[in-house]
Amino acid sequence: MKLSEKQLELVDAQVKRLVKTDSYYGKMYREAGITEIKSQEDFEKIPFSSKADLRNAYPLGIQAVPDEEVVRIHSSSGTTGKPVIIPYTAKDVDDWAIMFARCYETAGITKKDRIQITPGYGLWTAGIGFQAGCEKLGAMAVPMGPGNTDKQLQMMIDLESTVLTATSSYALLLAEEINKRGIRDQIKLKKGIFGSERWSQKMRDYIQKELGIELYDIYGLTEIYGPGIGINCDKQHGMHYWDDYIYIEIINPATGEQVEDGEEGEIVITTLVKEGAPLLRFRTHDISRIIPGECECGSKYPRLDIIKGRSDDMFKVHGVNMFPSQVEEILGMVDGVSSEYNINIAHDDEKNRDVILVTVEAEGRVDFEKTGQSIKELFKSKMSVTPKITVVPVGTLPRTEKKAKRIIDHRDK
Ligand code: ZN
Repeated sequence: MKLSEKQLELVDAQVKRLVKTDSYYGKMYREAGITEIKSQEDFEKIPFSSKADLRNAYPLGIQAVPDEEVVRIHSSSGTTGKPVIIPYTAKDVDDWAIMFARCYETAGITKKDRIQITPGYGLWTAGIGFQAGCEKLGAMAVPMGPGNTDKQLQMMIDLESTVLTATSSYALLLAEEINKRGIRDQIKLKKGIFGSERWSQKMRDYIQKELGIELYDIYGLTEIYGPGIGINCDKQHGMHYWDDYIYIEIINPATGEQVEDGEEGEIVITTLVKEGAPLLRFRTHDISRIIPGECECGSKYPRLDIIKGRSDDMFKVHGVNMFPSQVEEILGMVDGVSSEYNINIAHDDEKNRDVILVTVEAEGRVDFEKTGQSIKELFKSKMSVTPKITVVPVGTLPRTEKKAKRIIDHRDK
């Protein structure tokens, strides 16, 4: 998708403002001779930005406004190396809340709703984003944060929460707990807004059925405001994103070239009006595609398909690229298997080949041996690998409030 006239003007203004600063990108663009953006061609000459840049600029090198204009910072969890720090101005904080409130509205949530917020508060952008959007909309926030399932369920019942916001793994944990305690009839939830993790159809079906709620995927990342830059509507066909705040292009991750609308590739985001830490052409490593055409719901906002995976989640076995989403598709085809799994990959030095161990959960009513065999056959036919399958009872694999780590690679990198 090409930049609109209006978006082009906004990018031009961003670049002109940036090059006047001594920020990390201001210097970079000045040195590269990028001083104005008058066309799509000019835009596509802007080098990509990445998490590595943000680490190089740690802690506040990307700040593009004077100190007195910064009102808050957020940080993305640094699992490897330095974390990333993003400074926000008052306008950035407000713009984010406006986008988030728009997400809630798109999901049909109103001022009358009570939104139970279980993502974490603090340095990362989750809890506070859900909260600010809720207050901007005018609904009632129940700011729980993660954990303490007893208290979580008590508040859900006593305050009659109508909306649950969570990571999909925590929603699964709560759904299983509600089922186990037999308190479903005391729960007033109508909608669930889940983000920050790609999740399988199987998990979605389970949560939807157990909690009897409509589910919405919210999209976002700390580097670009946080969650709230897009969400799916009632038509459940892709996520609308707010193209008055961000411009999205889909690129071929190998060549960096833009692909046609409808084709799959890596999401690259440009912030159009961000002040504290504007980012141009930021590589997200999320894999998706732009859904061409207008949505049946009548919204003019463009759509992204659900996130298929991350280019860095991709794992390679016998030289073949694989995504967790492919594994989930396979498990979705087998009766009685839960959404939870993990994959261990190791190298057998003696035989000089990769070994894959897949652990899945199945309900007690099915034959574990036959189930394992069908999964093995599916791996063979769909992914051309032959893993060793272990089937364990439902509830055996760990449930987490954070993003679940499903692929464990023991091979020497
Ligand atoms: Zn729509």
